[in-house]
Amino acid sequence: LPSSLTDLVLTHIREVPDFPEPCVLFRDITPLLADGKAFRELIKGLADFYRGRIDSVAGLESRGFILAAPLAVELGIGMITIRKAGKLPGAVFGVDYALEYGTARMEVHPEIVKDGDRVLIIDDVLATGGTARAAIDLVEHSGGEATALCMLLELADLNGRKKLEGYTVDSVVVYE
Ligand code: AMP
Repeated sequence: LPSSLTDLVLTHIREVPDFPEPCVLFRDITPLLADGKAFRELIKGLADFYRGRIDSVAGLESRGFILAAPLAVELGIGMITIRKAGKLPGAVFGVDYALEYGTARMEVHPEIVKDGDRVLIIDDVLATGGTARAAIDLVEHSGGEATALCMLLELADLNGRKKLEGYTVDSVVVYE
């Protein structure tokens, strides 16, 4: 990814200590979204980077949706919504995964992923990698190919990348 995007994102992130719980440093992308010029530049930059290499964009609920939708529109391709348990109507395929405390589940409508589709999975933050890993499993189970994962921010000390071995992970900003 171009370093101009790294600077752009880095300068528009707010760090909020002890949110949503003590000892978590929350990386807040809302200042980036609120800056129309920066947001547009980010989406254009991502579109230039992925143009011609992917067939659809899968956004991870909730903040991944905010990035996936404009990117899909810019590229003229479809968006896939990968959602938390119980949100998608009708038949779904789901994957359970472990969180630091407890478990979570993500779901997809498998029929909206076309066989062999090159899918880009996108989210705001790569932390432990559990969510991204679940997304890969959902895409692959649905017959798609997890061509790349795009994360605005990667928290390297949580080793999320380890869970994604063998996949292309493009992080705009990596916090070491
Ligand atoms: P994980 O499955 O641990 O990689 O967590 C990824 C999900 O949790 C992403 O969808 C992020 O939006 C959210 N998340 C985890 N840690 C943070 C953080 N420090 N700041 C903001 N979002 C976070």
